[in-house]
Amino acid sequence: MKSTFIIYRYNPTVDKEAHYQEFTVDAGPTDKIVDCLNKIRWEQDPTLAFRASCVHGICGSDAMVINSRVDLACQKLVRDYKTGNNFVVEPLPFFDVIKDLVVDLEPFFDRHRSVRPHLINDREPPDRERLQDSETQQSFEPALRCILCASCTSSCPINRANPNYLGPAALLRAFRYIYDSRDSATEERLTQLDNDEGVWGCKSMWWCTDVCPKGIPVTKCLGQIKRLLKQREKNK
Ligand code: SF4
Repeated sequence: MKSTFIIYRYNPTVDKEAHYQEFTVDAGPTDKIVDCLNKIRWEQDPTLAFRASCVHGICGSDAMVINSRVDLACQKLVRDYKTGNNFVVEPLPFFDVIKDLVVDLEPFFDRHRSVRPHLINDREPPDRERLQDSETQQSFEPALRCILCASCTSSCPINRANPNYLGPAALLRAFRYIYDSRDSATEERLTQLDNDEGVWGCKSMWWCTDVCPKGIPVTKCLGQIKRLLKQREKNK
């Protein structure tokens, strides 16, 4: 079965502006989109640039726009689309393009680092490991599924209006540690998020939740942080 791929191309070292290039690929209904991109790179144009690593929805490196929707190229099959085997593939929006489908994710990881994405605990260490009860763990379990693919942050319209907004992925990581009973920096974390660049920047538009390839209820988790902040305000 022949499939047509119209792919965004841009090489800043030679191109004045981006353009689209069309490729025809032999692809079965159960081929992944990333398989098709690999075929193009291996058989037709080795200069085509895109990221892919595990190709099993774990590493999160092949997030891109496929037929106008952000998805992981390794999680979508040819048969998932009702477009008559015609595909338009573009880089993640919001981020600068390095080449073709590869975008600069440094700003994304800068925001992620800014929420200190690790356990902070200044209490005396126990003899053995710090334990977490399963009920508490369940309260933030969805956030543990995040693979940092950047789909949510690239899709969030608030990022465009407010360039300093932390974005859903970084806020979700903060949520994960705020709810972890082993972390002792809850107050500092909440204070960091209590402004328009933090969780109040979120206007609950749900785009992040809609595109998340791991099914994480991102908007709901951010809503839980907002409720905690309101409660904290009441208790003052
Ligand atoms: Fe990707 Fe979902 Fe994590 Fe956002 S929350 S970075 S969409 S896995």
